[in-house]
Amino acid sequence: MSLRSYLRTQPKPTNAYHFGAYLHCKRKAWLNYYGKAALTAPDPVHVRQQLQEGLQFEAQIYAAQFAHAYVVQGNHTQVRYEDTQAAIARREPVILQAQLLQKTDSEEETGIGVADILELRQEGSQHYYEVGDIKSTAVATLSHSLQLRWYSELLCSLQDGFLPRKGFLILGNGQRQEIHFEVIERDFTQLQQALEALRPLPETEADLKTPPILSTACFSCKWRYACMPQLQSEASLSLLPQLSTATIAHLQRQGLNRWDKLSPKAIEMLEAEGFLDALTAQHLQHNLDRLRQGKLIWKQQLRPDLFTDIVIGAFELQQFKAPTDNPSGYPYRYQVVGFHYLSNQTQGFLSVKQNMNGYPSFEKLPENLRNKRWVMYGMDALQVQRMVKTAAAEQGISPQIEVIDLLQFVEQYVHAPLPGLQLRELGYFTTQAGQLPARLAYITSLSEPALPLASDRKAYALNRLEVLATLITWLQEQL
Ligand code: SF4
Repeated sequence: MSLRSYLRTQPKPTNAYHFGAYLHCKRKAWLNYYGKAALTAPDPVHVRQQLQEGLQFEAQIYAAQFAHAYVVQGNHTQVRYEDTQAAIARREPVILQAQLLQKTDSEEETGIGVADILELRQEGSQHYYEVGDIKSTAVATLSHSLQLRWYSELLCSLQDGFLPRKGFLILGNGQRQEIHFEVIERDFTQLQQALEALRPLPETEADLKTPPILSTACFSCKWRYACMPQLQSEASLSLLPQLSTATIAHLQRQGLNRWDKLSPKAIEMLEAEGFLDALTAQHLQHNLDRLRQGKLIWKQQLRPDLFTDIVIGAFELQQFKAPTDNPSGYPYRYQVVGFHYLSNQTQGFLSVKQNMNGYPSFEKLPENLRNKRWVMYGMDALQVQRMVKTAAAEQGISPQIEVIDLLQFVEQYVHAPLPGLQLRELGYFTTQAGQLPARLAYITSLSEPALPLASDRKAYALNRLEVLATLITWLQEQL
Protein backbone atom coordinates (compact mmCIF):
# COMPACT_ATOMS: atom_id res chain seq x y z
CA MET A 1 0.00 0.00 0.00
CA SER A 2 1.44 3.38 -0.94
CA LEU A 3 0.96 5.73 1.96
CA ARG A 4 1.03 8.81 -0.23
CA SER A 5 -2.36 8.18 -1.82
CA TYR A 6 -3.86 8.09 1.70
CA LEU A 7 -2.41 11.44 2.74
CA ARG A 8 -3.96 14.89 2.49
CA THR A 9 -2.04 17.56 0.62
CA GLN A 10 -2.92 20.20 3.24
CA PRO A 11 -2.82 19.53 6.99
CA LYS A 12 -5.97 19.65 9.10
CA PRO A 13 -6.26 22.42 11.69
CA THR A 14 -4.76 21.65 15.10
CA ASN A 15 -7.33 20.21 17.50
CA ALA A 16 -7.16 19.17 21.16
CA TYR A 17 -6.39 15.56 20.22
CA HIS A 18 -3.10 16.60 18.61
CA PHE A 19 -1.79 17.56 22.05
CA GLY A 20 -2.67 14.22 23.63
CA ALA A 21 -1.42 12.32 20.57
CA TYR A 22 1.95 14.10 20.59
CA LEU A 23 2.48 13.10 24.22
CA HIS A 24 2.17 9.42 23.23
CA CYS A 25 3.59 9.30 19.71
CA LYS A 26 4.77 12.06 17.37
CA ARG A 27 3.86 9.93 14.38
CA LYS A 28 0.29 9.82 15.58
CA ALA A 29 0.14 13.60 15.86
CA TRP A 30 1.55 13.94 12.33
CA LEU A 31 -0.91 11.40 10.89
CA ASN A 32 -3.74 13.24 12.67
CA TYR A 33 -2.80 16.20 10.44
CA TYR A 34 -2.31 14.34 7.16
CA GLY A 35 -3.98 10.91 7.27
CA LYS A 36 -7.20 10.50 5.27
CA ALA A 37 -10.18 8.69 6.78
CA ALA A 38 -9.61 5.75 4.38
CA LEU A 39 -6.36 5.00 6.20
CA THR A 40 -7.93 4.62 9.63
CA ALA A 41 -8.48 1.30 11.39
CA PRO A 42 -11.74 0.73 13.26
CA ASP A 43 -11.78 1.38 16.99
CA PRO A 44 -11.37 -1.80 19.03
CA VAL A 45 -14.51 -2.97 20.83
CA HIS A 46 -13.41 -1.62 24.24
CA VAL A 47 -12.68 1.83 22.78
CA ARG A 48 -16.10 1.90 21.10
CA GLN A 49 -17.66 1.01 24.41
CA GLN A 50 -15.78 3.86 26.15
CA LEU A 51 -16.89 6.33 23.46
CA GLN A 52 -20.49 5.24 23.86
CA GLU A 53 -20.31 5.58 27.62
CA GLY A 54 -18.69 9.02 27.26
CA LEU A 55 -21.52 10.28 25.03
CA GLN A 56 -24.11 8.84 27.36
CA PHE A 57 -22.48 10.51 30.37
CA GLU A 58 -22.27 13.86 28.57
CA ALA A 59 -26.00 13.67 27.75
CA GLN A 60 -26.76 12.91 31.42
CA ILE A 61 -24.72 15.87 32.69
CA TYR A 62 -26.29 18.22 30.15
CA ALA A 63 -29.76 17.10 31.25
CA ALA A 64 -29.02 17.23 34.99
CA GLN A 65 -26.91 20.39 35.25
CA PHE A 66 -27.41 22.46 32.09
CA ALA A 67 -31.02 21.92 31.07
CA HIS A 68 -31.56 25.67 30.44
CA ALA A 69 -28.25 26.47 28.75
CA TYR A 70 -28.01 27.76 25.19
CA VAL A 71 -26.94 25.01 22.73
CA VAL A 72 -25.04 26.19 19.65
CA GLN A 73 -27.01 25.57 16.45
CA GLY A 74 -26.08 24.66 12.87
CA ASN A 75 -24.64 21.81 10.81
CA HIS A 76 -21.58 23.50 9.37
CA THR A 77 -18.48 24.67 11.22
CA GLN A 78 -18.72 28.25 9.97
CA VAL A 79 -22.45 28.52 10.82
CA ARG A 80 -21.81 27.10 14.30
CA TYR A 81 -18.86 29.43 14.80
CA GLU A 82 -21.00 32.46 13.94
CA ASP A 83 -23.74 31.21 16.26
CA THR A 84 -21.16 30.86 19.07
CA GLN A 85 -19.95 34.42 18.38
CA ALA A 86 -23.55 35.70 18.56
CA ALA A 87 -24.23 33.82 21.84
CA ILE A 88 -21.07 35.29 23.38
CA ALA A 89 -21.99 38.79 22.16
CA ARG A 90 -25.39 38.64 23.89
CA ARG A 91 -23.76 37.22 27.04
CA GLU A 92 -25.63 33.95 27.34
CA PRO A 93 -24.89 32.70 30.90
CA VAL A 94 -23.98 29.18 29.67
CA ILE A 95 -23.22 28.03 26.12
CA LEU A 96 -23.00 24.32 25.21
CA GLN A 97 -21.14 22.79 22.25
CA ALA A 98 -19.38 26.06 21.44
CA GLN A 99 -17.60 26.01 18.09
CA LEU A 100 -14.14 27.57 18.31
CA LEU A 101 -11.79 28.38 15.43
CA GLN A 102 -8.39 29.90 14.79
CA LYS A 103 -7.83 31.45 11.37
CA THR A 104 -4.98 33.18 9.59
CA ASP A 105 -5.41 36.53 7.81
CA SER A 106 -5.98 34.55 4.61
CA GLU A 107 -8.87 32.67 6.33
CA GLU A 108 -6.96 29.37 6.56
CA GLU A 109 -8.27 27.40 9.57
CA THR A 110 -5.24 26.51 11.68
CA GLY A 111 -6.96 25.58 14.94
CA ILE A 112 -10.32 24.09 15.85
CA GLY A 113 -12.27 22.78 18.83
CA VAL A 114 -15.73 22.25 20.26
CA ALA A 115 -15.99 23.17 23.94
CA ASP A 116 -18.61 21.21 25.89
CA ILE A 117 -19.40 24.22 28.11
CA LEU A 118 -18.68 27.96 28.21
CA GLU A 119 -19.70 29.73 31.41
CA LEU A 120 -19.95 33.50 31.77
CA ARG A 121 -17.85 35.13 34.51
CA GLN A 122 -17.58 38.72 35.68
CA GLU A 123 -14.66 40.49 37.36
CA GLY A 124 -15.44 44.17 37.92
CA SER A 125 -16.70 45.50 34.63
CA GLN A 126 -14.99 42.69 32.71
CA HIS A 127 -17.14 39.88 31.31
CA TYR A 128 -15.50 36.77 29.97
CA TYR A 129 -16.13 33.03 29.50
CA GLU A 130 -14.41 30.04 31.08
CA VAL A 131 -14.23 26.65 29.35
CA GLY A 132 -15.58 23.44 30.87
CA ASP A 133 -15.33 19.86 29.60
CA ILE A 134 -17.18 16.68 30.59
CA LYS A 135 -15.13 13.52 31.13
CA SER A 136 -16.58 10.20 32.21
CA THR A 137 -13.28 9.16 33.82
CA ALA A 138 -12.71 9.44 37.57
CA VAL A 139 -9.36 11.23 37.38
CA ALA A 140 -8.20 14.28 35.40
CA THR A 141 -5.17 13.73 33.14
CA LEU A 142 -2.63 16.09 31.59
CA SER A 143 -4.35 15.61 28.19
CA HIS A 144 -7.65 16.84 29.71
CA SER A 145 -5.96 19.96 31.10
CA LEU A 146 -4.21 20.65 27.79
CA GLN A 147 -7.54 20.33 26.00
CA LEU A 148 -9.09 22.99 28.28
CA ARG A 149 -6.09 25.25 27.79
CA TRP A 150 -6.30 24.84 24.00
CA TYR A 151 -10.00 25.71 23.92
CA SER A 152 -9.28 28.75 26.09
CA GLU A 153 -6.61 29.81 23.60
CA LEU A 154 -9.14 29.57 20.76
CA LEU A 155 -11.72 31.40 22.85
CA CYS A 156 -9.42 34.44 23.23
CA SER A 157 -10.22 35.80 19.79
CA LEU A 158 -13.94 35.83 20.68
CA GLN A 159 -13.45 37.82 23.89
CA ASP A 160 -11.05 40.63 22.93
CA GLY A 161 -7.93 38.56 23.50
CA PHE A 162 -8.81 37.75 27.13
CA LEU A 163 -7.32 34.43 28.27
CA PRO A 164 -9.06 32.95 31.33
CA ARG A 165 -6.71 31.82 34.11
CA LYS A 166 -8.51 28.53 34.64
CA GLY A 167 -11.11 26.12 33.30
CA PHE A 168 -13.04 23.22 34.82
CA LEU A 169 -13.72 19.54 34.27
CA ILE A 170 -16.86 17.65 35.25
CA LEU A 171 -15.59 14.18 36.06
CA GLY A 172 -17.24 10.75 36.19
CA ASN A 173 -18.66 11.34 39.69
CA GLY A 174 -20.42 14.51 38.44
CA GLN A 175 -18.15 16.80 40.52
CA ARG A 176 -16.29 19.82 39.19
CA GLN A 177 -12.52 20.09 39.27
CA GLU A 178 -10.90 23.44 38.54
CA ILE A 179 -7.76 23.42 36.40
CA HIS A 180 -5.42 26.38 36.92
CA PHE A 181 -3.49 26.95 33.73
CA GLU A 182 -0.31 28.26 35.40
CA VAL A 183 0.42 24.65 36.45
CA ILE A 184 0.51 23.36 32.87
CA GLU A 185 1.59 26.53 31.04
CA ARG A 186 5.12 25.33 30.32
CA ASP A 187 3.93 21.97 28.96
CA PHE A 188 1.28 23.67 26.89
CA THR A 189 3.66 26.21 25.32
CA GLN A 190 6.25 23.56 24.49
CA LEU A 191 3.67 21.28 22.93
CA GLN A 192 2.07 24.10 21.00
CA GLN A 193 5.46 25.04 19.53
CA ALA A 194 6.20 21.39 18.72
CA LEU A 195 2.85 21.06 16.92
CA GLU A 196 3.43 24.29 15.01
CA ALA A 197 6.70 22.78 13.74
CA LEU A 198 5.09 19.41 13.00
CA ARG A 199 2.04 20.66 11.10
CA PRO A 200 3.83 21.89 7.95
CA LEU A 201 6.19 18.86 7.82
CA PRO A 202 6.07 17.08 4.41
CA GLU A 203 5.92 13.28 4.25
CA THR A 204 9.61 12.72 3.49
CA GLU A 205 10.72 14.80 6.47
CA ALA A 206 8.03 13.32 8.69
CA ASP A 207 9.31 9.81 7.85
CA LEU A 208 12.70 10.82 9.22
CA LYS A 209 11.59 12.91 12.17
CA THR A 210 8.53 10.97 13.28
CA PRO A 211 9.03 7.32 12.28
CA PRO A 212 6.52 4.84 13.74
CA ILE A 213 7.69 3.36 17.05
CA LEU A 214 6.01 0.26 18.38
CA SER A 215 4.44 0.88 21.78
CA THR A 216 1.37 -0.12 23.77
CA ALA A 217 -0.40 2.93 22.28
CA CYS A 218 -0.31 1.19 18.87
CA PHE A 219 -2.89 -1.46 19.79
CA SER A 220 -5.80 0.93 19.87
CA CYS A 221 -4.38 3.61 17.56
CA LYS A 222 -6.41 4.34 14.45
CA TRP A 223 -3.25 4.60 12.30
CA ARG A 224 -1.96 1.12 13.09
CA TYR A 225 -2.81 -0.23 9.63
CA ALA A 226 -0.35 2.28 8.19
CA CYS A 227 2.36 1.87 10.81
CA MET A 228 2.45 -1.89 11.45
CA PRO A 229 3.45 -2.96 7.92
CA GLN A 230 5.99 -0.12 7.89
CA LEU A 231 7.56 -1.29 11.17
CA GLN A 232 7.83 -4.76 9.73
CA SER A 233 9.19 -3.84 6.31
CA GLU A 234 11.68 -1.36 7.74
CA ALA A 235 12.83 -3.85 10.42
CA SER A 236 12.25 -1.16 13.03
CA LEU A 237 14.49 -1.28 16.08
CA SER A 238 11.37 -0.68 18.19
CA LEU A 239 10.35 -4.32 17.55
CA LEU A 240 12.83 -5.13 20.31
CA PRO A 241 11.29 -4.20 23.68
CA GLN A 242 14.71 -3.99 25.34
CA LEU A 243 15.62 -0.93 23.26
CA SER A 244 14.28 2.28 24.80
CA THR A 245 13.56 5.38 22.71
CA ALA A 246 16.85 6.89 23.96
CA THR A 247 18.79 3.76 22.98
CA ILE A 248 17.17 3.69 19.54
CA ALA A 249 18.03 7.38 19.04
CA HIS A 250 21.64 6.62 20.09
CA LEU A 251 21.89 3.77 17.55
CA GLN A 252 20.34 5.89 14.81
CA ARG A 253 22.90 8.63 15.38
CA GLN A 254 25.50 6.00 14.49
CA GLY A 255 23.59 5.11 11.32
CA LEU A 256 22.10 1.88 12.70
CA ASN A 257 18.40 1.86 11.88
CA ARG A 258 17.36 -1.79 11.52
CA TRP A 259 17.20 -4.70 13.94
CA ASP A 260 18.64 -7.06 11.30
CA LYS A 261 21.86 -4.99 11.34
CA LEU A 262 22.24 -5.25 15.10
CA SER A 263 25.34 -7.41 15.67
CA PRO A 264 26.53 -9.01 18.93
CA LYS A 265 29.34 -6.42 18.88
CA ALA A 266 26.83 -3.54 18.74
CA ILE A 267 25.01 -5.06 21.73
CA GLU A 268 28.31 -5.29 23.61
CA MET A 269 28.93 -1.61 22.86
CA LEU A 270 25.48 -0.66 24.20
CA GLU A 271 26.29 -2.54 27.36
CA ALA A 272 29.70 -0.86 27.70
CA GLU A 273 28.14 2.58 27.16
CA GLY A 274 25.62 1.95 29.93
CA PHE A 275 22.50 1.74 27.70
CA LEU A 276 21.88 -1.89 28.73
CA ASP A 277 22.67 -3.98 31.79
CA ALA A 278 23.99 -7.50 31.38
CA LEU A 279 20.59 -9.19 31.83
CA THR A 280 18.82 -6.87 29.38
CA ALA A 281 21.60 -7.42 26.85
CA GLN A 282 21.04 -11.15 27.22
CA HIS A 283 17.27 -10.76 26.66
CA LEU A 284 17.95 -8.55 23.68
CA GLN A 285 20.15 -11.20 22.08
CA HIS A 286 17.50 -13.85 22.78
CA ASN A 287 14.79 -11.71 21.17
CA LEU A 288 16.96 -10.96 18.16
CA ASP A 289 17.28 -14.70 17.62
CA ARG A 290 13.49 -15.06 17.90
CA LEU A 291 12.93 -12.27 15.37
CA ARG A 292 15.31 -13.98 12.95
CA GLN A 293 13.29 -17.20 13.36
CA GLY A 294 10.06 -15.28 12.71
CA LYS A 295 8.80 -15.84 16.25
CA LEU A 296 6.66 -13.64 18.43
CA ILE A 297 8.36 -11.44 21.02
CA TRP A 298 7.05 -11.54 24.59
CA LYS A 299 7.53 -8.62 26.92
CA GLN A 300 8.18 -11.03 29.75
CA GLN A 301 8.59 -14.73 30.23
CA LEU A 302 5.33 -16.64 30.61
CA ARG A 303 4.42 -20.07 31.95
CA PRO A 304 4.67 -22.59 29.09
CA ASP A 305 1.40 -24.27 30.15
CA LEU A 306 -0.58 -21.03 30.23
CA PHE A 307 -3.07 -22.11 27.59
CA THR A 308 -3.42 -25.78 28.44
CA ASP A 309 -6.51 -27.17 30.20
CA ILE A 310 -8.60 -24.10 29.50
CA VAL A 311 -12.16 -23.26 28.50
CA ILE A 312 -12.44 -21.14 25.35
CA GLY A 313 -15.77 -19.42 24.98
CA ALA A 314 -17.86 -17.19 22.75
CA PHE A 315 -21.32 -15.77 23.31
CA GLU A 316 -24.31 -16.31 21.10
CA LEU A 317 -25.90 -12.90 20.79
CA GLN A 318 -29.36 -11.81 19.83
CA GLN A 319 -29.65 -8.44 18.21
CA PHE A 320 -32.54 -6.07 18.70
CA LYS A 321 -33.22 -2.49 17.83
CA ALA A 322 -32.23 0.03 20.50
CA PRO A 323 -34.93 2.42 21.75
CA THR A 324 -35.27 5.51 19.55
CA ASP A 325 -34.22 7.82 22.42
CA ASN A 326 -31.02 5.78 22.84
CA PRO A 327 -28.38 8.44 23.70
CA SER A 328 -25.48 6.34 22.38
CA GLY A 329 -26.76 6.76 18.82
CA TYR A 330 -26.00 3.08 18.04
CA PRO A 331 -29.08 1.61 16.37
CA TYR A 332 -28.64 -1.96 17.68
CA ARG A 333 -28.21 -3.64 21.04
CA TYR A 334 -27.20 -7.20 21.81
CA GLN A 335 -28.46 -9.65 24.36
CA VAL A 336 -26.56 -12.77 25.41
CA VAL A 337 -28.63 -15.88 24.77
CA GLY A 338 -26.03 -18.66 25.04
CA PHE A 339 -22.40 -19.56 25.59
CA HIS A 340 -20.53 -21.92 23.25
CA TYR A 341 -17.30 -23.36 24.58
CA LEU A 342 -14.43 -25.71 23.90
CA SER A 343 -12.80 -27.62 26.74
CA ASN A 344 -10.27 -30.39 26.16
CA GLN A 345 -11.32 -30.60 22.48
CA THR A 346 -14.94 -31.06 23.49
CA GLN A 347 -17.52 -28.59 22.32
CA GLY A 348 -20.34 -27.62 24.65
CA PHE A 349 -23.10 -25.12 25.21
CA LEU A 350 -24.34 -23.37 28.35
CA SER A 351 -27.75 -21.78 28.25
CA VAL A 352 -28.10 -18.26 29.52
CA LYS A 353 -31.17 -16.79 31.18
CA GLN A 354 -32.05 -13.20 32.04
CA ASN A 355 -32.37 -13.08 35.82
CA MET A 356 -34.93 -11.11 37.86
CA ASN A 357 -32.91 -7.92 37.48
CA GLY A 358 -32.68 -8.33 33.71
CA TYR A 359 -28.99 -9.38 33.78
CA PRO A 360 -27.76 -12.43 31.88
CA SER A 361 -26.74 -15.33 34.08
CA PHE A 362 -25.67 -18.96 33.46
CA GLU A 363 -28.51 -21.37 34.18
CA LYS A 364 -26.07 -23.94 35.57
CA LEU A 365 -22.29 -24.02 35.82
CA PRO A 366 -21.14 -27.60 35.11
CA GLU A 367 -18.66 -28.96 37.63
CA ASN A 368 -16.05 -29.90 35.02
CA LEU A 369 -15.73 -26.24 33.99
CA ARG A 370 -15.46 -24.77 37.45
CA ASN A 371 -11.75 -25.07 38.29
CA LYS A 372 -10.39 -23.81 35.02
CA ARG A 373 -9.04 -20.76 33.26
CA TRP A 374 -11.60 -19.35 30.80
CA VAL A 375 -10.29 -17.47 27.78
CA MET A 376 -12.54 -14.92 26.05
CA TYR A 377 -12.14 -11.92 23.92
CA GLY A 378 -12.65 -8.25 24.85
CA MET A 379 -16.10 -7.38 26.16
CA ASP A 380 -17.03 -11.07 26.30
CA ALA A 381 -14.47 -11.55 29.09
CA LEU A 382 -15.94 -8.74 31.15
CA GLN A 383 -19.46 -10.03 30.65
CA VAL A 384 -18.58 -13.61 31.50
CA GLN A 385 -16.90 -12.48 34.72
CA ARG A 386 -20.13 -10.80 35.80
CA MET A 387 -22.21 -13.80 34.76
CA VAL A 388 -20.05 -16.30 36.64
CA LYS A 389 -20.34 -14.15 39.75
CA THR A 390 -24.12 -13.84 39.44
CA ALA A 391 -24.58 -17.55 38.71
CA ALA A 392 -22.35 -18.49 41.66
CA ALA A 393 -24.36 -16.28 44.01
CA GLU A 394 -27.67 -17.66 42.69
CA GLN A 395 -26.52 -21.29 42.80
CA GLY A 396 -24.68 -21.03 46.13
CA ILE A 397 -21.36 -22.29 44.74
CA SER A 398 -17.85 -20.80 44.72
CA PRO A 399 -16.25 -21.79 41.42
CA GLN A 400 -12.52 -21.18 41.00
CA ILE A 401 -12.73 -19.57 37.57
CA GLU A 402 -10.06 -17.25 36.27
CA VAL A 403 -11.02 -15.30 33.14
CA ILE A 404 -8.36 -14.19 30.67
CA ASP A 405 -9.28 -11.45 28.24
CA LEU A 406 -7.21 -12.25 25.18
CA LEU A 407 -7.21 -8.62 24.08
CA GLN A 408 -5.68 -7.48 27.36
CA PHE A 409 -3.32 -10.44 27.32
CA VAL A 410 -1.97 -9.49 23.91
CA GLU A 411 -1.65 -5.82 24.89
CA GLN A 412 0.18 -6.75 28.05
CA TYR A 413 2.53 -9.46 26.85
CA VAL A 414 2.97 -9.37 23.09
CA HIS A 415 5.46 -7.00 21.53
CA ALA A 416 4.76 -7.28 17.82
CA PRO A 417 2.87 -5.49 15.10
CA LEU A 418 -0.47 -7.21 15.47
CA PRO A 419 -2.66 -4.74 13.63
CA GLY A 420 -5.51 -4.37 16.08
CA LEU A 421 -6.70 -7.76 17.11
CA GLN A 422 -10.29 -6.67 17.37
CA LEU A 423 -12.80 -9.41 17.00
CA ARG A 424 -13.53 -8.72 13.36
CA GLU A 425 -9.88 -9.36 12.58
CA LEU A 426 -9.54 -12.73 14.21
CA GLY A 427 -10.03 -14.34 10.83
CA TYR A 428 -6.88 -16.24 10.15
CA PHE A 429 -3.20 -15.71 10.31
CA THR A 430 -0.31 -17.25 8.52
CA THR A 431 3.29 -17.77 9.41
CA GLN A 432 5.83 -16.71 6.87
CA ALA A 433 9.48 -17.50 7.35
CA GLY A 434 11.57 -14.39 7.87
CA GLN A 435 8.65 -12.20 8.94
CA LEU A 436 6.86 -11.61 12.15
CA PRO A 437 4.19 -14.26 12.10
CA ALA A 438 0.89 -12.58 12.77
CA ARG A 439 -1.04 -11.49 9.76
CA LEU A 440 -4.64 -11.07 10.60
CA ALA A 441 -7.49 -10.86 8.16
CA TYR A 442 -11.11 -9.94 8.52
CA ILE A 443 -14.25 -11.73 9.43
CA THR A 444 -17.53 -10.38 10.58
CA SER A 445 -17.92 -7.87 13.41
CA LEU A 446 -20.34 -6.84 16.11
CA SER A 447 -21.04 -3.72 14.12
CA GLU A 448 -22.31 -5.69 11.13
CA PRO A 449 -26.05 -5.30 10.58
CA ALA A 450 -28.63 -7.87 11.59
CA LEU A 451 -28.06 -11.43 12.75
CA PRO A 452 -31.76 -12.25 12.81
CA LEU A 453 -31.89 -16.03 12.48
CA ALA A 454 -30.99 -18.34 15.32
CA SER A 455 -28.93 -20.52 12.94
CA ASP A 456 -26.90 -17.47 11.81
CA ARG A 457 -26.32 -16.42 15.39
CA LYS A 458 -25.06 -19.86 16.28
CA ALA A 459 -22.81 -20.01 13.20
CA TYR A 460 -21.39 -16.61 14.12
CA ALA A 461 -20.61 -17.69 17.70
CA LEU A 462 -19.03 -20.96 16.52
CA ASN A 463 -16.96 -19.06 14.00
CA ARG A 464 -15.61 -16.79 16.74
CA LEU A 465 -14.92 -19.81 18.89
CA GLU A 466 -12.94 -21.50 16.12
CA VAL A 467 -10.93 -18.36 15.44
CA LEU A 468 -10.17 -17.89 19.13
CA ALA A 469 -9.11 -21.53 19.42
CA THR A 470 -6.75 -21.17 16.45
CA LEU A 471 -5.27 -18.00 17.84
CA ILE A 472 -4.76 -19.56 21.26
CA THR A 473 -3.07 -22.61 19.73
CA TRP A 474 -0.74 -20.28 17.88
CA LEU A 475 0.03 -18.22 21.01
CA GLN A 476 0.67 -21.46 22.92
CA GLU A 477 3.17 -22.53 20.23
CA GLN A 478 4.97 -19.22 20.68
CA LEU A 479 5.44 -19.57 24.44
S1 SF4 B 1 0.21 2.98 15.35
FE1 SF4 B 1 1.78 3.33 16.91
S2 SF4 B 1 3.48 4.25 15.80
FE2 SF4 B 1 1.67 4.45 14.51
S3 SF4 B 1 0.83 6.42 14.95
FE3 SF4 B 1 -0.21 4.98 16.24
S4 SF4 B 1 0.91 4.94 18.19
FE4 SF4 B 1 2.23 5.91 16.65
